[in-house]
Amino acid sequence: MKLKTNDNVKILSGKDRGKTGKIIQVFSAEGKIVVEGVNKIKRHLKAKGQGQSQKGQVLELSAPIPASRVALICPKCSQPIRVGYKTEAGVKKRVCRKCKEYVD
Ligand SMILES: [Zn+2]
Repeated sequence: MKLKTNDNVKILSGKDRGKTGKIIQVFSAEGKIVVEGVNKIKRHLKAKGQGQSQKGQVLELSAPIPASRVALICPKCSQPIRVGYKTEAGVKKRVCRKCKEYVD
């Protein structure tokens, strides 16, 4: 997984195409991410409690999307980019393929 929490990404396909947002969760095993404000779904909570003292609610939350549907936005050149890797002093770092700057 080339993406991390707090990365800014641009959505490349789907109904939120063109939107940008911050990654709030990463599921590396599934290759999915959750982007703030993207792929919103509504969850209906049923009324609960005796005599339904708690009213039903509608919650809006962001559902995970495949990481392949987004591009990382480079913090240096502000463009949607492809991520490369460079090893410096034994540490693997992410690098922008456009401006060659480190992304981390
Ligand atoms: Zn860059």
